Amino acid sequence: MKSIQDLRTDDIACEALLAALDGRDQLVAIYDTSDRLMFANSAFKHAFRLNRERDEITFADLVLRGILGQCGTRLEGADATAVIDEALAARRERAGQRSFATELIDGRWFWMTESLLENDWIVLTGSDISALRSSEQAWIGAHERAVQEARTDVLTGLANRRQSMSALELAITAAAGTETPLTVALVDLDHFKQINDSHGHAAGDAVLRDFGEVCRHATRQSDIAGRIGGEEFLVVFPSTSVEHGVSAVERMRRQVLSRRVQVAQDRAIRYSFSAGVCKVEMSDDLESTLARADSALYSAKREGRNRTVAWGARA
Ligand code: GH3
Ligand code: MG
Ligand code: MG
Repeated sequence: MKSIQDLRTDDIACEALLAALDGRDQLVAIYDTSDRLMFANSAFKHAFRLNRERDEITFADLVLRGILGQCGTRLEGADATAVIDEALAARRERAGQRSFATELIDGRWFWMTESLLENDWIVLTGSDISALRSSEQAWIGAHERAVQEARTDVLTGLANRRQSMSALELAITAAAGTETPLTVALVDLDHFKQINDSHGHAAGDAVLRDFGEVCRHATRQSDIAGRIGGEEFLVVFPSTSVEHGVSAVERMRRQVLSRRVQVAQDRAIRYSFSAGVCKVEMSDDLESTLARADSALYSAKREGRNRTVAWGARA
């Protein structure tokens, strides 16, 4: 085997080395002390469209092509002077190497390594990591979907119990911190067992899905509606007084009363709910909040169902 000393003087070995670096997936470029491009392999020339270039090309010229969206590094719309100044400073900041991922305008991703030599020339090499990026993106997508699924109730598409509880906990902390009002409603469908018994479990599921729709459409973006048990739901109303919370729940209740759920080809059924609403106090935590809402809900059931009771009013 040859030593490095031998390689430097051996033209054949040099050519072999350059040929090895001339694959489509490997970029090689060398800049001199004034950031003029002194050498580029064919993959680099192709990526930066340098094949017919006769004039001198500088690093700044190449950055500009990326900003104009012509070729090379994807930099469209960036502030040319700022990008060039920053890149020039960074690449000569200190001796040694810096590595970073770069997207080219043709959509490929490269892992670039710039080496600042002792004579102040810069050698740039880049390896195509597009395949890695796309599997990384797929992995991130799968992870996000898994997180979303872990938070969602499959039947209604609303937040599940765990997500509802952590959302309420966060809302309680935020309300205490900002001293904004916070109102919570516990909602339980009436005589739901009878719906199951009379029309079957699938009919019960259809009613639950229908109520999920009502929750989605009747609440604001900032409200959080979740299914926390079989036919029990929690609605959190941030920045809302108990009066407005009661109005919102009553709006939902009227909507529910106007609905018919198709449970068989020739059968559509009605349903109703009872709700307990309470204001979250500064001293409240999750348990004390839910206990008061539950006590109001219990009153609503006891008073005949299909109604909303605010804690403190009648509970
Ligand atoms: P109340 O008005 O007092 O709330 O009476 P209820 O019949 O609604 O209450 P109860 O707690 O007696 O019955 C709830 C029923 O909900 C019993 C259970 O089988 C049913 N259930 C729980 N989860 C599901 C589900 O996911 N799908 C269906 N179809 N039924 C469910
Ligand atoms: Mg119940
Ligand atoms: Mg019920």
